[in-house]
Order: sequence, then C-alpha cells, then structure tokens
Amino acid sequence: MFVGHYSASFALKRLDARVPIFPLLIGVQFMDFLFMVFILFGVERMEIVPGFTEVNAFVLSYMPYSHSLVAALFWSVVYGAACALLIRHLGLARGILICGAAVLSHYVLDVLVHTPDMPLIWDPGTKLGLGIWKSRIATIAVETLFLAAAWFAYIRMSKPGPGAVGKYGASVFFGFLVLLTIATPFMPVPKTLIELSSQALAGYVIIALLGRWVDSRRIYVD
Ligand SMILES: [Zn+2]
Repeated sequence: MFVGHYSASFALKRLDARVPIFPLLIGVQFMDFLFMVFILFGVERMEIVPGFTEVNAFVLSYMPYSHSLVAALFWSVVYGAACALLIRHLGLARGILICGAAVLSHYVLDVLVHTPDMPLIWDPGTKLGLGIWKSRIATIAVETLFLAAAWFAYIRMSKPGPGAVGKYGASVFFGFLVLLTIATPFMPVPKTLIELSSQALAGYVIIALLGRWVDSRRIYVD
C-alpha cells in the first residue's frame, strides 16, 4: 500500500486532535522510509520484476528489519518516543500510543495488499500477505475507500480556516491522494533501486509537507 496509509494518519488525528498531523503523516510511512534506505545499503533486498502483480513490479524478498511484525513493534516504540522528545507537549504515553500506532498501522495495511512477503517474526519464517495487489481494481477500490473515510472524518472533526487553502485545501489534498492512488499502478516501472528509493522518499516528504500545510489552515472544534 502506498497512498492508503495516509488514511491511518487522519484516523489517529481524530482519536486525539492534540497530536500534530506531520508526525502522523511521516509515521504511517516510517517502515517504508527505513526500507527505502536499507535496500540502498543492501541490508534488505528487493527485485524489480515487471508484471509481478497488477499493481507493481516489486518482489520484496528480504525485509525483516523494516517490515516484520517484531520490527514494526520495535520501530513504533522508538518513533513514538522520538516524537515525544521532539514535541514536548505530547508526553511519552501519547507519543508512543498515537505516533507509535501510526507506525504500526503500516504493517497491518501492508499485510492486506502485499503478496506473502511480510515476516511475522523474522526471515526465514512465516510471511503474511493477502495479495490485494494482484488486482488493480481491488487495490484502487480499497485504498480509495480508506481515503474517503478519512476525508469524511477529517472534515467532520475540523472546520475550514481563513483563505482558499482553509476552505478548499482539505478536499483538494484528498482529491490529489485519490488521483495518486488511481495513477500509481499505471506509472512507469523504476529502472533502478536508487530511482525507486529517491522517488519514494521524496514523495513521502512532499505529501507530509502538503498535509501539514493544509492542516495548518483547519480549525479544530474541540
Ligand atoms: Zn511498506
């Protein structure tokens, strides 16, 4: 899953509006941030095989450090504690519970779409994956449904602030995410791991910054 992960950021924001959106938008992709760096250094492995699933060309052959359940739990605590340190008003418990949950949500949503390549404990060992990526239509439907639910929750929990960004920003942002969801399976296959990594990392940062900008023009009701 790529864009659908962001729906978890907004679900968590709804749970506790005092947590800023930026660490939640970074948190839901934190496991992929790690993966994109680890493959560059050979710590983890993937191969690009065009046509492997209908949605992408990724044979994710070895990723226990970023994408096992044990690693997900570990990184959730590390990320949550780091957020609590950097954002003083959060507090350790809220940092670990809410920002940590953002990281952990990545594992759950990845299991839905990946082919069985998500290690439960470690690699070698049991791997999970329900394989929604095998169908373009199913992937787009599931991710769009999650985003629609997130958008609905978001416009109910916050009000438009001043200016055009306050008024239309949230809807344009979610519209952009849905377009990205539909376009992703049709994008050209990256030729090298460096190309894939740099595109992905830049994409995660740009989306998080856009989300923060849009959210800064929203007013929270309670
Ligand atoms: Zn992932």
